[in-house]
Amino acid sequence: MDDLSSIPPTFRGDVESILIPEADLQTRLAELAADVDRDYAGRDLLLVGVLKGAIFVMADLARHLTIPTAMDFMAVSSYGASTSSSGVVRILKDLDTEIEGRDVLLVEDIVDSGLTLDYLTKNLRSRRPASVEILSLLTKPSRREVDLPVRYVGFEVPDVFVVGYGLDYAERYRSLRDIVTLEPSVYGG
Ligand code: 5GP
Repeated sequence: MDDLSSIPPTFRGDVESILIPEADLQTRLAELAADVDRDYAGRDLLLVGVLKGAIFVMADLARHLTIPTAMDFMAVSSYGASTSSSGVVRILKDLDTEIEGRDVLLVEDIVDSGLTLDYLTKNLRSRRPASVEILSLLTKPSRREVDLPVRYVGFEVPDVFVVGYGLDYAERYRSLRDIVTLEPSVYGG
């Protein structure tokens, strides 16, 4: 049995196990920020967070960075309460800023099939930025359907559905501090 003491009691019955504890997430984000600091020194870096899942990655990564950055956000259609990708991507909220000539770093929570970011990077590239790269806290390599270069990866995870640290199931569990898996009963199993 996992030690679930970091999970608020109201959610504890729903959590099966802690896959990545908060401390490991923060350590890894600090390491990634050091890489980004080095790679983008002296450049005009725009961090683009993909709502809503990337909110905490964006907040914590940005605060670990020491180079000046600007932030913007995009929102794309999600899969609703379903746990698998439909491959359909719709922009619900576009950038507020022009990106022509700028260095863009897309900040994501998880790359699964890769379809969402494949679409987003192509869309952003058509706006003539100086560069577009991807940073994702998590990746599920076994699920990839497109060849998508992810420059900065926090953790590789197996093909399991995870929530917490921004990731939801039916809009719940985003506020958990750890990356966790849920009990099958939560999915009606
Ligand atoms: P992709 O287009 O790469 O298949 O999917 C990316 C999006 O799918 C993520 O931004 C996230 O919204 C959702 N997703 C994929 N795997 C998971 C998962 O294990 N947990 C949660 N909560 N969302 C996931």
